[in-house]
Order: sequence, then C-alpha cells, then structure tokens
Amino acid sequence: MSKTETLYKYPEEIKNEFVKTEDIAFRNGIRVSAAEIWRFMTEEAPIRYPHAFSNSRYYHRRLSGDVHLPSTIKHNYLMLTMTDRITKARESGIPIIFVQGGQSVDPYYAAGGIALRPASTGLWARGRVEGLNLREEELSRMDEREKARRSLSVEICNTAGYETIQEGNLPVDMVAPYLCLRCSDVSYGLEAHRHGKHKVDLFLVDYPLDHQKDKEWAVDYLAKTLQRLTQKIGKLAGKEVTEEALHKEIKLHNEGRKLAIETADVWWSAKVPPTNGADRRDIFQMGGMELHGDPNATLTVLKESNGYVKDRVKYGVKGEGVAEDAKRLFVLGSCVFPNDFRVEEAGGIIVGNDNHWSDITTIVEETGDPYEKLAKAILSYPYEQPIEERAKWTIELLKKSRADGALFLYNWGCNTQSAISRMLCDIIKEETDLPTLIIEHEQRGEQTEQLQNRVNAFIEMLE
Ligand code: SF4
Repeated sequence: MSKTETLYKYPEEIKNEFVKTEDIAFRNGIRVSAAEIWRFMTEEAPIRYPHAFSNSRYYHRRLSGDVHLPSTIKHNYLMLTMTDRITKARESGIPIIFVQGGQSVDPYYAAGGIALRPASTGLWARGRVEGLNLREEELSRMDEREKARRSLSVEICNTAGYETIQEGNLPVDMVAPYLCLRCSDVSYGLEAHRHGKHKVDLFLVDYPLDHQKDKEWAVDYLAKTLQRLTQKIGKLAGKEVTEEALHKEIKLHNEGRKLAIETADVWWSAKVPPTNGADRRDIFQMGGMELHGDPNATLTVLKESNGYVKDRVKYGVKGEGVAEDAKRLFVLGSCVFPNDFRVEEAGGIIVGNDNHWSDITTIVEETGDPYEKLAKAILSYPYEQPIEERAKWTIELLKKSRADGALFLYNWGCNTQSAISRMLCDIIKEETDLPTLIIEHEQRGEQTEQLQNRVNAFIEMLE
C-alpha cells in the first residue's frame, strides 16, 4: 500500500443521522457528543492513523462499512483515542495494569487502576507513532514482536505485549495477570519481566486448577489473593480499597455482562445475521468491559448497540456484506481470528467465539463478601474447566448460535490450547455431528493467507 492509497471515508450523508445518537459517558464524568466523535473520525483520525482507515481487503481489522449502526463508529472512536486517553489518565496518577489470561477486570478498576490486556496495551503503544500507512504499521509491529522473541523465546506465542512494555518502554505500572489454564504465555512473560531492563511491579494471581470451583480452599485462596491484588493497586493509586468499592464495580460490570448475554441471545435468534461478523464480535466483547480501558464508556456504547440489534432483528435487517444464507462458523480457542470480511466474501459468517465469552457470561453474585463471590465466579469460568466440562459448555454455545461448523484456532507456541483442541473437537463431533477444523497459526503475520485459505475451503465444504 502506498501513502497515496485512498482511505475509507464515512459517508457524509449519514452525518445528520449519526450526530443525533447518544453521547459517550466516560468514567471521569466527561461526556463526548456524537458530533465530536464524527469530527474526530472524519477529520483528525484519518490524518493521525491512516492505517486504521485502510481499505485493503487483507486488513483483518478494517473499519466496518455498516455505518447505520452507530456503535461501530463509536467503538472505533474509543479504539483510536486509546493512546490519548490512557496517556492522560496515567499522567493524572491512575496506575495502568497489564493483565492477561481471560479475567474479569472488576478488582483492578475497584482499586483505582486501569486494566489493559495485550491487545489494548499494543494499541496504546502503537498509537504513539502517527501517520503510518498499513504496511508501515504492520512492519513496525512485526519488528517490535521480533524483539520479544529474542528476549523471551521463539518457542512461545509471544502475543503478550512483552515488547511494548520492555522495549517500547510503555509506562505500565504493574504486570498482574491470572495464571490460568488457557494461556502458557503468561508465566513466560511474567518471568521475563522479572529480569527485564524496564523495572515494573509484578503480581501473579495464582489460579488453582483441577475441579477448582468445587473446592472451598481454592475459593478462599483466590479471594485472599484478589484482596492482596487490590491492596497493591490501591497503594499505587493512593486509594484505600473498600468492600463497598468492589461491590459497586461488580454491579457495573454485571450490567455489561448481562447486556452482552441478552444481545447475543437476540443476535443468535435472528433469521438473518443482524450485523456483520466484525461488528458482532466488537459488540459481544464489550460485555467484558475491558476493551476500551474505560468500563463506563464501554457500557454506554453497549447499551446503544443492544437497542440497535433488537430493532434490526425485529425488522429483519441484515448486516452489511453478509450473504442471505451465510454458513455460520463458531471460533474456539485463543487469540486467533480469521478476517471477518473475507469470511463473508466466501459466504460465511463468524457467529461467536468461546474464549472471552467464558468470563463475559459468568455473572458475579452481588451480595456477601465481594472477594469471595468474585473468586467463586472466576474459578467457575467454563473455558478453564476440565476438557469434558468445557466441551459441554461449548456444545451448548454451538447449539444456541446455530453454528454450521466449528474452527479451533490457536497460535504456534500455545501449549494448552494445542493440547486440548483434538479432544475437544472429538467430543463436539461425537455429540453434535458438526464438522470441525483445527488450525495452528503462526504469529509472525506471514501465514495469514494460509489461514484464510483453509477457513474459506472449510466454508466451501459446509456449502
Ligand atoms: S495464543 Fe495461547 S499462549 Fe498465546 S496468548 Fe493466546 S492463550 Fe496465551
């Protein structure tokens, strides 16, 4: 792609309709109007972040053209303002905590911090360099990742943003992931930070395994660990963390989780998919309340999206670019997604994924000791249960979403998911007769076309 390539532009004719939609209400009390969002997304952002507006069909996160769904523009606004917002928050004394491992972020926010996953940390880091086109941006990202490979190991998947903290010197105050079954990268990364040149506070939320949710001691142990975690973050934030603050945070996050569940049920029940796959994923993921580094802002966009999805289902509106009889794919496993737009060109649509849906759909009890209730919920995440139990939950999701087939995807170096994939797919096939395909993806970016070819062939087979 050259610098002169035409970039995607939101059509001017939707402006009047868009500016009448809801403000985004942020955690710090600031409200941003739809008119300001429109200005940023049509004037400022294309100059600062041209890569995000690339029209390339090979760009897997290209902007959705379903412009009558206001949340798609608002979600992208929140993604593209990540660097400005997080930098400002950090300068005002809010500690930034790096998290990883499919966890709920309620305790991090209750303690006065901002919890960012690898993808969000990466966005924050990359947003500091402006004016790059897609090619330049991808090369710089690969270059950063290569540094992590050299510092950690080539034997692991390296998606964890180690390089952005150590090499990019991003001002992250604490690295505090959960150690859990899904991710073998967590422990490598944490250990490497211990020896890294950039000194950062470390905290590992130890996660007992093997029928953990049925053991009283495991709940008690995790509850105490979460208490230590909030105290440590509270110290950085200069704030005393009360049970009341955690209760309040759990309620807020439960609101998001419940809304996401309701939205998914409506979406899955529709005769035709009411949005394309990229918008669906963004809307469902908002239930995790961690996507944009501001749970309150995310909640306002999720609420608005919920209304639009319901209306579209009621009036039989189909998402932009989706085939009438699209083959429905469900993605299993961690951290790999095919290009939604090219899946749709091939006659398919991705209707869901199991990974973060596991924590999004686990509602935390709102009464009693909040640490204990949170620990109970976290230990019962279906994605982290023994394989047969995880498979039962996955089968329910496949049925609910009316999937025609399941793709199990993971990165090369992902030890846990690679070991689980065969058995999980065998159980699915035995119980449902649905076709499944396992693909190991190589993270460096060279294998994207191969991944897509195999996914498209799978769709052809379903047809
Ligand atoms: S691909 Fe696997 S090892 Fe890598 S970050 Fe994701 S879950 Fe962890």
